[in-house]
Amino acid sequence: MKTLAEALAAARARGIERLDAQLLLGHVLGRPRAWLLAHDDAALAPADAARYAGLLARRRGGEPVAYLLGSKEFHGLDLQVDARVLVPRPDTEVLVDWAVELLRGELAAEAPGVVDLGTGSGAIALALKHDCPAAAVTATDTSRDALAVAGANAERLGLAVELLHGSWWQPLAGRCFRLALSNPPYIDGADPHLAALAAEPRSALTPGADGLRALREIVAGAAAHLEPGGWLLLEHGYDQADAVRRLLADAGFAGIAMRRDLGGQPRCTGARR
Ligand code: GLN
Repeated sequence: MKTLAEALAAARARGIERLDAQLLLGHVLGRPRAWLLAHDDAALAPADAARYAGLLARRRGGEPVAYLLGSKEFHGLDLQVDARVLVPRPDTEVLVDWAVELLRGELAAEAPGVVDLGTGSGAIALALKHDCPAAAVTATDTSRDALAVAGANAERLGLAVELLHGSWWQPLAGRCFRLALSNPPYIDGADPHLAALAAEPRSALTPGADGLRALREIVAGAAAHLEPGGWLLLEHGYDQADAVRRLLADAGFAGIAMRRDLGGQPRCTGARR
């Protein structure tokens, strides 16, 4: 029998990143990483070794660790995720932080209406509801699979959000919000980076040939669904900030501002109706 240290070293030798190897072994054993590191001379039982080998093989096949663990931490929430939804990214926390600042400042109101377009796992909508419990949070998605994941997360976390099926603004006819935000698919369909993301839903990553298509559709519908003075916040590709700024300016938005992600890249652009 191998020790835990030997099992971790073997995973590393087969090209699995150190943190991934630790997270997956901890998952198999039902132990936190700190426990693994303190008990790395313990023996790995054959049944656990077999499960570990299975997870390592899937990881090498390109499945995100979050799918293998079945969960991903986002903005302090533990979200359940699987191949039906995009894995929430730390960069998207920048969008949530910006929204929370607005809801506590310029957009403060008794029960501000907020909408998250293309919610996926529910990450943005649920993080906002968690930090701003008074907000009335709505989320839409065109994928019924994604809405099922978001609904299960909402229920498990005890966060009440309204979930509606449809593309962007389509299920929101006649409704106006104080704040709208979205992390839409924005990777160009021809971008070679998509190959590395093949395990995630393609429709959550790319709108097709032109990476700006979804962003354009969202901006086009925004004025009709925002209260006067309401804000639209958008996540976008590192090289799309100028294009999104132009879309917002052409649609008559004011106060256009940009925020960078954790790697220093332009990642979110927002503006006021
Ligand atoms: N930020 C994601 C990535 O680069 C893409 C998500 C998206 O298109 N909204 O992997």
